[in-house]
Amino acid sequence: MKGIILKGIGGFYYVRTEDGVIECKARGKFRYDSMKPMVGDEVDIDLDKNNKGFIVKIHERSSQLIRPTVANVTQAYVVFAIKHPDINFDLLNRFLVLCEYNNIKAKVCLNKVDLCTEEEKKEIKDKINDIGYDVFFINAKKKEGLDDLNSGLKDNITVLCGPSGVGKSTLINDFIGSIHMETGNVSEKIGRGKHTTRHSEIIEINEGYLVDTPGFSTLDMNFINKDELKNAFPEFDDYIGMCKFRGCNHYKEPGCAVKEAVEDGKINKSRYEFYIKTFNEIQDGGNKKW
Ligand code: GDP
Ligand code: ZN
Repeated sequence: MKGIILKGIGGFYYVRTEDGVIECKARGKFRYDSMKPMVGDEVDIDLDKNNKGFIVKIHERSSQLIRPTVANVTQAYVVFAIKHPDINFDLLNRFLVLCEYNNIKAKVCLNKVDLCTEEEKKEIKDKINDIGYDVFFINAKKKEGLDDLNSGLKDNITVLCGPSGVGKSTLINDFIGSIHMETGNVSEKIGRGKHTTRHSEIIEINEGYLVDTPGFSTLDMNFINKDELKNAFPEFDDYIGMCKFRGCNHYKEPGCAVKEAVEDGKINKSRYEFYIKTFNEIQDGGNKKW
């Protein structure tokens, strides 16, 4: 039987299958640390004669987040506030690059729309569209503007990320609250204490899954392979194979098509500058793979 791990507690894994949620243990090699199942894993399970479940196979992961530890996240809602705190574009770029690098598609959600004017909204929208991303304006506190984000959960494992104070917890509770209103259950999640240690889980919602804690709690980029950083900038993709040198890192190499595109205004200059800055940072950080 096939399923997906919703949560793990004390050596037990709760696997969503066609026949309901089944409590499973890991079998054999999957008990070793390096091979342990993760929340989000797609697994094959066997039932023994007492109807106890065992994980016998973990399918290949499309992505793997470390903090929180979740496999197969497909999408990130990158949440920033329009004001309080103001958008820090450097930070926004860091989140976007980490998503792309981890094979996770990013959607930018700008919260606290109640705090800004239409002109301010437009200005910010243009700026973010220019770096290649769509913008969703929301008011998490009043649950406004959430329709697209709600329907976007379908067929995805979604994580929320962003700096602190922007409204991520409010938004997670909006999403979770909406399923509990449907089912009439009282949520243990809402109002939960901030200081209780708990493992992340994924919550079934709108034919998809939502990670119940914000992702990318560390923005350390030093694990990124310097030669692969460029792959995290989708706007460079149009120029693949057009640079003079194969494997061009679009930095000091002559005949670089990306640098030309920046000069021609086809690639956003601030994004390119962010790329170079990060490229240098990684080098300075002494990345072992480099
Ligand atoms: P987190 O740190 O990203 O999880 O942010 P929280 O969800 O804890 O929210 C931080 C603060 O912003 C709280 O005081 C919220 O009430 C407030 N907040 C959340 N959403 C909105 C919104 O849409 N508008 C306004 N004005 N405040 C909001
Ligand atoms: Zn190049």
